[in-house]
Amino acid sequence: MGPMTRFAVFDSKSYDRSSLGPAAEAADLNLRFYDFRLNEDTLPLVHDVTGVCAFVNDSLTRPVIEGLAQAGVGVIAMRCAGFNNVDLQAAADHNILVTRVPAYSPYAVAEHAVALLMALNRKVTRAHARVHDMNFTLDGLVGWDMHGKTVGLIGTGKIGKIAGQIFKGFGMRVVCWDPYPDQAWADETGCEYVKLDELGRLSDVVSVHVPLLPETDHIINAMTLAEFKRGVYIVNVSRGALVDTKALIKALKSGHVAGVALDVYEEEEGKFFEDLSGEVMVDDKLARLMTFPNVIITAHQAFLTEEALGEIARVTVENLRRYRLGDEPLPGTVLGPNGPL
Ligand code: NAD
Repeated sequence: MGPMTRFAVFDSKSYDRSSLGPAAEAADLNLRFYDFRLNEDTLPLVHDVTGVCAFVNDSLTRPVIEGLAQAGVGVIAMRCAGFNNVDLQAAADHNILVTRVPAYSPYAVAEHAVALLMALNRKVTRAHARVHDMNFTLDGLVGWDMHGKTVGLIGTGKIGKIAGQIFKGFGMRVVCWDPYPDQAWADETGCEYVKLDELGRLSDVVSVHVPLLPETDHIINAMTLAEFKRGVYIVNVSRGALVDTKALIKALKSGHVAGVALDVYEEEEGKFFEDLSGEVMVDDKLARLMTFPNVIITAHQAFLTEEALGEIARVTVENLRRYRLGDEPLPGTVLGPNGPL
């Protein structure tokens, strides 16, 4: 491939440009940044590119992948860990290489989960707004000690494990469930594996850290919520569809769930990462969630640290550089038709 090799970067914001831009320049790669998402509507704009770089809310369905193949695209470099938005079988059928960044900073994501939980529990956002309004009263700001409480982690991969270790540092009991438990890690850190229903019964806080797969879709639903302790707090910094939002709203209304911290939302695509401040909110579930005083939401920013962005840029650019040279991608970054190879 010659010097005309170009790569299109979708859903790119200022922070992507400032991390990917210099890395690409150093590797002599030509990146074209688009601020819109890749989906069936924007597909016709893909031309004269060798590969695309996409993110969590781009929509790489079979029709999109077919279109990319027709446009001559040979590589899709996901600049994230999750790949639930990519039809991997379609990519394999069209001989398109798919890479991702499997671990850019599990600390960034786990620390954000803890930040959200603490802000929710200790009413930090409400207190901050009050103080700025010269209201120095404390009514309604009572929280609870993390120390001595039980947190349940659904998923103990890279991020779940770091979260478990942080919670241990607070003096919490950490109970975990994962279809592939790492007993050596549990023994070393004092975290305990339990059955999923037991986790629900024991936990004061439940935090989900599994990938979004057909088997994990709505892993937190009306039935599982009913089995959780009354007064439970739910944390989701993984993928929106792991939690059934309708059931969550019902459980919040009844008081069964006492607090919710979200960095992701089932229908975030087209909303998160955009400035919609002048528009009417047409998503009734998101609008309802935002009315609860005991719900805190950030717009998919758990990954947003300098370290994580630097690592995302390094791995993504290196894989594109290797693709251009016809070299093998970095080990552990390739996605086959059934997931990570
Ligand atoms: P990981 O692959 O290291 O861990 C995932 C864990 O889930 C593993 O322990 C695995 O055994 C378990 N698992 C696999 N299949 C399962 C199944 N069918 N049911 C239940 N559990 C299953 O992943 P990670 O790096 O810890 O990331 C977890 C998720 O966090 C990612 O998939 C992604 O969706 C999300 N994430 C979110 C952000 C953000 O900015 N909010 C950033 C990075 C990752």
